[in-house]
Amino acid sequence: MNRSLAVAALLAFVPLTARAAPCPGNADALGTERVLTIDAKTTPRVGRKEFPVTLPLGKKELVLTFDDGPWPTTTPKVLDALKAECVLATFFLIGRNVEAHPDIARRELAEGHSLGHHTYSHALLSRITQAKAQAEIDRGIAEDEFALYDKRRSAPTTPFFRFPGFASNAALLDWLNGRGIVVFGADVWASDWLAMTPEQELRLILARIERVGSGIVLLHDTKKETARMLPAFLRELKRRGYRIVHVVPAADGANSR
Ligand SMILES: [Zn+2]
Repeated sequence: MNRSLAVAALLAFVPLTARAAPCPGNADALGTERVLTIDAKTTPRVGRKEFPVTLPLGKKELVLTFDDGPWPTTTPKVLDALKAECVLATFFLIGRNVEAHPDIARRELAEGHSLGHHTYSHALLSRITQAKAQAEIDRGIAEDEFALYDKRRSAPTTPFFRFPGFASNAALLDWLNGRGIVVFGADVWASDWLAMTPEQELRLILARIERVGSGIVLLHDTKKETARMLPAFLRELKRRGYRIVHVVPAADGANSR
């Protein structure tokens, strides 16, 4: 059977819009509505804050993403909130933080989240040489892979990457694309790098989501205000009829698990 026939046969048995299984202990959970598979060949970069296109999402569909962790005082609270609502998200990891807190990164993996990469030390890559930028990216991936899969390698199991500060350039975008790595921007964010209360952050992100209607949401699991507002945020998304989409890499990724 050729590849497209095999995919068609698979799709016949796994409807992509299938509802998730019930959420243990929470009959009214927000849940994860569906899984969206992403391939760098057809979807090299996404997120309208930075690029002209975003993911193929329907009305009121959101992809939740968290950057800069793992962080011991906040990430476990974020994971608890997601678990309570059976919501799957994508974490963009900082290699240095994974090195310090590999147990938290492994918990993210064990709980079914997608784990993308965000450099080793959060360097702004457009401000350093191409060689140094590539080394930052590769070292980050290698530390993440080592903590998660016991292999220190620069080919990522989940080929998703986000530039710190969205500081990309054409040469690095081409280099990542050539390696089959999808670059994530965002469609909406909470500005949670600014000082505000959890209540202010909640109002701000909900108002911005209402404006864009659907898309990739950028939050930081290193921020205590974000961790504190997350349970109320997820409840409010449910009340307002939003649905969560979980993004995963195409099945033929670089490394088999
Ligand atoms: Zn960041």
